[in-house]
Order: sequence, then C-alpha cells, then structure tokens
Amino acid sequence: MAAATSTPTSLKEIDSKPQTPAFNIAIIGAGIGGLALAIGLSHHEPPIPFTIYESAQQFAAVGAGVGLGPNALRAMDLIDSRFRQQYMDIATGNGRPEKRHVMMEAMLMREGLGQEESWWGKGDWGGERFERTGAHRKDLLDIMTGFVGSNYVRFDKKVKEVEQVGDEVVLRFEDSEVVRHAAVVGSDGVKGFSRQVVLGKRYPEYVKPKYTGKYVYRAIIKMEVAKGILGGLATDAKMYMSKGGNISTYPITEGREVNVVMFKRDEREGGWRSSENTEEVSRKEMIADFTECEGGCDTRLLRLFDHAKPLRWGIFHHPTTPTYYTSLICLLGDVAHAGGPHQAAGAGQCLEDALILSRVLGKLYSNHPSILDAPSHQRTRIIEAAFEAYDEVRRPRAQKQVLTTQECGELYNLRRPAMDVDMDRDGDEEGEGDGDMVKVLQNLNTRFEWIWEHDLEGDVRAVEKRFEELVRRDGDDGGELARL
Ligand SMILES: Cc1cc2nc3c(=O)[nH]c(=O)nc-3n(C[C@H](O)[C@H](O)[C@H](O)COP(=O)(O)OP(=O)(O)OC[C@H]3O[C@@H](n4cnc5c(N)ncnc54)[C@H](O)[C@@H]3O)c2cc1C
Repeated sequence: MAAATSTPTSLKEIDSKPQTPAFNIAIIGAGIGGLALAIGLSHHEPPIPFTIYESAQQFAAVGAGVGLGPNALRAMDLIDSRFRQQYMDIATGNGRPEKRHVMMEAMLMREGLGQEESWWGKGDWGGERFERTGAHRKDLLDIMTGFVGSNYVRFDKKVKEVEQVGDEVVLRFEDSEVVRHAAVVGSDGVKGFSRQVVLGKRYPEYVKPKYTGKYVYRAIIKMEVAKGILGGLATDAKMYMSKGGNISTYPITEGREVNVVMFKRDEREGGWRSSENTEEVSRKEMIADFTECEGGCDTRLLRLFDHAKPLRWGIFHHPTTPTYYTSLICLLGDVAHAGGPHQAAGAGQCLEDALILSRVLGKLYSNHPSILDAPSHQRTRIIEAAFEAYDEVRRPRAQKQVLTTQECGELYNLRRPAMDVDMDRDGDEEGEGDGDMVKVLQNLNTRFEWIWEHDLEGDVRAVEKRFEELVRRDGDDGGELARL
C-alpha cells in the first residue's frame, strides 16, 4: 500500500523520490468499474499490485437493480471465471421459463397498457443467445468485494488532486494525505474528477457530463405487492412506453422483488438546473410528472409510485470522449463513457474495460518486470503503450454504446430516433399506433446484437498485440523501449 507523507502545499513541491518504490496502480473509485479492474489485476499470475481509494466510508451500491447482457457475463468469465459463476448463483431471470431469452416486453404506459393493440402479446425483444439476468446491485457488489481483500481498499479517501510529477503520479486526498503511484486509473463515476485531469488541458469542452434530457425515479417492490398491482405482468421484464416517459420493471433477488425505474422526459425550460445528480420533489410533483405527461399513465402503474422515493436522478452522459488517457493516468467506466441506461449496458461496458485493461497491464507486468520497480522514463513509456492500446480497443465500442443508448431511449418514447427507423404511419409522424410499435420492435430485436455478440477474446488478443506493436515501434524509432 502506498505510504503517507507530510503535507506539502503543492503537489509540484514534492521531490521526485519514490515513496512507493514497487509498481503499484492507484484505482480511484470502488464502483463496478474499479472493483472489476481490481478483480482482474488480482487474478493475474503473479497478482498486479494496486490500491483502491474510495471516498465513501464503505462499499455502497448506488441505485437499485442492474441487468447484464451476454457480453457482460463473458467479460466476467474472462476476468475470473469464479466471478461469473458467483454472479449466476444470484442472477434472476424472467419468472416464466418461456421468457428466458426475452430482454423485455413492450407495453404502453397509457391507460389500458396497449392491450387493444394488434401487437399485444407479441412485444418481446431479446435473442436466442441472450439470457435475461438481473440482480440487486448490493448482491453484485457483495460478490465483487469478496474478491478484493479489504487491505487493498482505503475508504474515506476522497481524491482531491492528481498530478503527474516526472515518472510517477501523485495523489492528494481531502484529508491532505499525499501518496505516489506508478499509474492511476480513474473510475470515479459519471461526474468523476479524474476526467478533468485527463481531458482538462487538451479537451476542456468535453470534461463536464451532458444532461440527457431525462431523469428517473426508482423503486424496489416486493414481488407479492407488485403482483397485487400488475398481476402476471410483474414476474417478467417489461417496458411501458409513451411519448412523455417510460417505466421499466424486472424481477431481481431470485424473484422476491421487482426493480422499477420510471423515466421522465424533462420538458422544463433549461432542463436540469441543480448542481447535484439528484433533486428532491414532493410526492405530488412526482405523480404529476407521469399523469400530466404526453400519453398519460395507466392507474396500475401509478400505484407503483407509492413505493418510489420522490427523488429525481438526473441522467448524464459523455457522448464525446476524445481520449481515455494522458500519459500515466487513464479512465475506466462511467467517467470515460457514461451513457443513459436504456440498453442496460453501462455496467457491462465497465466490465469490458476492466477485462481489457487488466489483460494489457498483465502483459506489461509479465513481459517487462525489470523496469517496473522504480520510476523511470522507460517505465512511463511502457505504461503509456498499455494505456494507448486500451484506448484504441475500448473507446470506439464504448462510445458507440453511449450514442446508441440515447437513440434507444428515444425509441421507448416512440420518437423518431436519429437512425433509419421510419415511424411514419399514414402520415402520422409520431403516432403510437400499431405500425409504430411494429417498427420499434423490429429495431429492438436487432439493435443489441453488436453489444451482446461481441468477440471479447478477439479484443483481448487485439489489445495485447497492439501493446507489443507499440513497444516495438518505440524501439524501431530508436526510443528507450528498444532495450527492453
Ligand atoms: C437508473 C440507472 C439504471 C442503470 N441500469 C443498468 C443496467 O441495467 N445494466 C447496466 O449494465 N448498466 C446500468 N446502468 C449503468 C451502470 O450503473 C453504470 O455504468 C456503472 O454502475 C458505472 O460504474 P462505475 O464504477 O464506472 O461508476 P460508479 O458506480 O459511479 O462508481 C464510482 C465510485 O467512485 C467513487 N468516487 C467518486 N469520486 C471519488 C473521488 N474523488 N475519490 C475517491 N472515490 C471517488 C464513488 O464514491 C463511487 O463509489 C444504469 C445506470 C442508471 C443511472
């Protein structure tokens, strides 16, 4: 673990002597992204040293349920096969066996839920190789923390400053402690401060997350209660759609509970004004968001709000991230590529990041041990090569997820998205009749394949190959890595 120092007034004042001579990677943030990277680094043989710094006082699952697709499960498997096995032990599918491969079923949010529509009962989307799995975040986090020894995590350590000083990175915490590391991985969430460190100088316009124009309310409801409200609809994943908002429901905790997320299109002038991610409102305002929105809301769905906290969670994203690293500092998870949750793929992208980054760092750790123990220009160059290879493999795919999930949210609101779905029906540009839903379903039944079916083993090969190419290239150019 990194050693503490006295407290100089500026990071630059610290002399360049290493205080953590051994190679040790700092991970900022113990969310799904940071923990998954920690599992990957621990699983490497020999384990790659790291320290997680988390601002919270303990592991805390923010939010409620989380659904994971086949790519996420494969990433878990490749990070550490026990990770996937343990997740599968707690993962919850749809209640009815015939819905095993169904991601969600389309309904309308308006009164009657669309039961009179011709597509009623045929609104499933999913895929043969897709298997519905969801979990309570706390259960997922419990599994992940079980892999990471508590001596590798330092809680109540809010990172305030990060600066590269020579061939090391210096971190200062809110409590004034200062530590040094060989490299830093920022996985501090959508509003994470490490984004400023990586992008601030070169791309200041892309530092701040952008508001997606939607906020959510959330609830976890006992299955018996949900069945009392929705009947048989409660046991399987559903998406209730309308122009003004949409509500998703799916079973978690082995079917004992239902996770509910109520999405509202924000039509207020100026959109999200609070500087915080959340905003408390009255229960009346929360209900009005859905009774008064375009398309209205079925009275059964409104009863779900009895179990929701009147707390709006603004949904922010990073549609453009020009790079995921600068020299010895790298971004992972939502701080790099937060997206709206419409494709239920954000956590999966964190897991993919963790897989690829842990593998390329593993290659570095195994193949070039002689230069890792002490800070040097050579060590900096080789870490940069690993981060560059990670950036090249991960960024195009992760950023595509951010853009396509935004479009997906438009589909749930039966709006014309920025893609080749023509929702016109008899000249009705944005109706919500049968024709529209058929097109929406056609789209939903094909739009997830590139996420779910992706060749992650291929990505692992690609990142390792690219890393070695970059090391060789540096050598060919007469650079210092030639001697490695
Ligand atoms: C409503 C909603 C539903 C979603 N549903 C799904 C879903 O079904 N499937 C899916 O795949 N994804 C889903 N997502 C997305 C998914 O939750 C995120 O992509 C994922 O949790 C991000 O993890 P992370 O580790 O990058 O960030 P976070 O979980 O935000 O973790 C960041 C951590 O960093 C810590 N931290 C922050 N700043 C500092 C600092 N300065 N110093 C030290 N520590 C710090 C925080 O305390 C936190 O613990 C959903 C998102 C939302 C909003």
